[in-house]
Amino acid sequence: MRGHSLKEDLLDLLYPRRCPVCHGIAPRDRRICGECRKKLPVITSARCRKCGKPVADRQVLCSDCMQVRHLYTQGAGIFRYDDVMRSTVAYFKYKGRQEYGETLGKLMLESSRDLLALWKPDALIPVPVHAARLAERGYNQAELLAAPLSEGSGIPLVRDLLLREERTKAQKKLGAEDRRRNLSGAFRCARGKAVPGRILLIDDIYTTGSTVDACAGTLLKAGALQVFFLTLCIGGENTAEN
Ligand SMILES: [Zn+2]
Ligand SMILES: [Zn+2]
Repeated sequence: MRGHSLKEDLLDLLYPRRCPVCHGIAPRDRRICGECRKKLPVITSARCRKCGKPVADRQVLCSDCMQVRHLYTQGAGIFRYDDVMRSTVAYFKYKGRQEYGETLGKLMLESSRDLLALWKPDALIPVPVHAARLAERGYNQAELLAAPLSEGSGIPLVRDLLLREERTKAQKKLGAEDRRRNLSGAFRCARGKAVPGRILLIDDIYTTGSTVDACAGTLLKAGALQVFFLTLCIGGENTAEN
């Protein structure tokens, strides 16, 4: 951990950091309360070999991955998308708590060192949001998670390659099949930009994988060799409703 500068001390006093779990003021020098940290739903069970969803012991693929041929190579979510994470993500995305991105991104980094060593990505690419939603929210949550991951790992963050094309319907209420249809043509690569060989997509939640696949398809077509993903949360099996 690096030491605190005077500027940081002053900022801490003026704008105390809130804990992303209880939303109260976090203890100084910490971004999350000790007790709240213990409530984070770390995945300890076996994981699907493709998407990393928690599965029963000895199960190789989750039921989703047995049905769908994903375009990405492999991926994982750090935490289970349970009630604690649901609330954390809701504050982070919809209640303006963009400060949570740094805390959560650092937690993602702590838990993904082995995966980063395995995948060896050349670049981190946050899943882009629609321009309209960006204007509404003021930030892209995936980019806020990716920034501390990039800083801590030294893997470059590439923001200007993958672009969101058109305003698609909110995915939330759609089933798996409709999600895929809704996203076809939703992303494109910026012209004239170099496309890294091994790409790690960063997002907040993985549910059916339709968003990650749409991004991966676009990047692979543009010349990427392999696309991986890392998300803050991941649903259980058959969680299309998340
Ligand atoms: Zn707390
Ligand atoms: Zn899976």
